[in-house]
Amino acid sequence: MDKKLFQERVKSLSSFSYARAEAADAFGEALMNLDDWGLYRINPIRFAKDHDLDPNEAADLFICASRIGLFDLTWNLICPACGGILSATPSISQLNRELFHCALCNIDVPIILDDYVEITFTVSPNVHETDINLYENLDSFQRASFSENLKPSKRMRDALSGCHVAFSFVNPGEYQTFEFQAKPDTLYRLASVHVNSAVSLCIDSSEKNSENPAIHVHASQEGFSPQEVQLHPGQVTLYVHNTCPSPIGVMIFLADYPVLYKIEKESPPTWAPFLTGKMLLNNQAFRSLFKMQDLATNLKLSVRSLTMLFTDLRGSTEIYDTVGDMRAYQLIQDHFTILETSVRKHAGAIVKTMGDAIMASFSEPRNGIMAAIDMMDGIRNMTGDGKDELGLKIGLHEGPALTVNNDGRLDYFGQTVNIAARVQGLAQAEEIWVSESVFNADGVKTHLLDNSYGHEAHSVVLKGVGQRANVYKCRSLTKTEPEQPEL
Ligand SMILES: [Zn+2]
Repeated sequence: MDKKLFQERVKSLSSFSYARAEAADAFGEALMNLDDWGLYRINPIRFAKDHDLDPNEAADLFICASRIGLFDLTWNLICPACGGILSATPSISQLNRELFHCALCNIDVPIILDDYVEITFTVSPNVHETDINLYENLDSFQRASFSENLKPSKRMRDALSGCHVAFSFVNPGEYQTFEFQAKPDTLYRLASVHVNSAVSLCIDSSEKNSENPAIHVHASQEGFSPQEVQLHPGQVTLYVHNTCPSPIGVMIFLADYPVLYKIEKESPPTWAPFLTGKMLLNNQAFRSLFKMQDLATNLKLSVRSLTMLFTDLRGSTEIYDTVGDMRAYQLIQDHFTILETSVRKHAGAIVKTMGDAIMASFSEPRNGIMAAIDMMDGIRNMTGDGKDELGLKIGLHEGPALTVNNDGRLDYFGQTVNIAARVQGLAQAEEIWVSESVFNADGVKTHLLDNSYGHEAHSVVLKGVGQRANVYKCRSLTKTEPEQPEL
């Protein structure tokens, strides 16, 4: 690695408002000590833990570093059963499908940005050409083809090693012979994650009396052909011809799916924390630095749990009458700075502003409530004339949503967004109203309590949503100024 060039580029990160100079230094220091595999497909959350950095800051730094070409940002779709990487693309647009199929597990995987979409960063070949050979051996194949964030249970690992029959790379244009003894009345699969395809080798239950012909299998970028072969028990010989431009890893295994599915259910894998697609979309640095013009116009990806925060100001037009145009304009700009700082600090992003209001999104309800409390504190701590005229009103709701392309900008759509806006509409100045899903989410009550916020339960019919909902009015108990009438 050209350490000097690399260090210079890392230093330039501090010119981004998203990167503190000291954090950028620590980041650069940590990267310099990594070997080639360490610079391959980095999980920023694990990187932060290993190097004693704040995980949000580490994510911001990797995003800024990708913006200046130090790293390549990749969206990986992970099979939740085997951890196989079913798709790895530089843009969200290429994930614009409802389902992906895992040829290894023979299951369909829906695209859910919360769970199965992993964001990783690999050092750019323009900065450092690594010596990694992904086609060196089974270990390099596994590191390259499976996410390190999914850890199968010991029971599953034992079962899988019992199913393993053969593995080999097949170079472009070459043939590779695979031979094994097939047991009667079984299913074997010849599969490759590189072409995400498999051939079912169905072994009948007849006695071992008929010889199997040699089977020719062609691998192309469209997958294998044929996809299913009927065979007798006993000796099986397969010639695999790779017509792809790069090597492919081919494995054969006994596909006892009923047993494997049962083990997966009873002893599910565990996931190490990683930067999800949802977290990236709720990251202000990513939204600001990566323009998303290449979003497919029909983009519609599911988010299982999104926290939406809406704000508004009490009678903002009256502020202009009270304190004059100049002062009012400045107050409202200062208020936006406070909102943005609070959103960023708590791993959220401003999706859009509407007049004096914002719509922000968070991956977790507790981040949303922390940002809301910070916003209230920030407004209270503003100095100068007229600050008391600013009455901030906040509402939050959590639920599923769809990501959509709205004029080249990534927006959220769905009932969760509508409800969040309606919940905000219930708030008076200096009140944070939250729906039940936010109120009951992990860490929210504790955070309200720790910040001396009291709450009051209400049952309301939300306008335009047409359903009765339990909502909670939250208000700081430390502030005892008299209520100001609504303007
Ligand atoms: Zn799989």
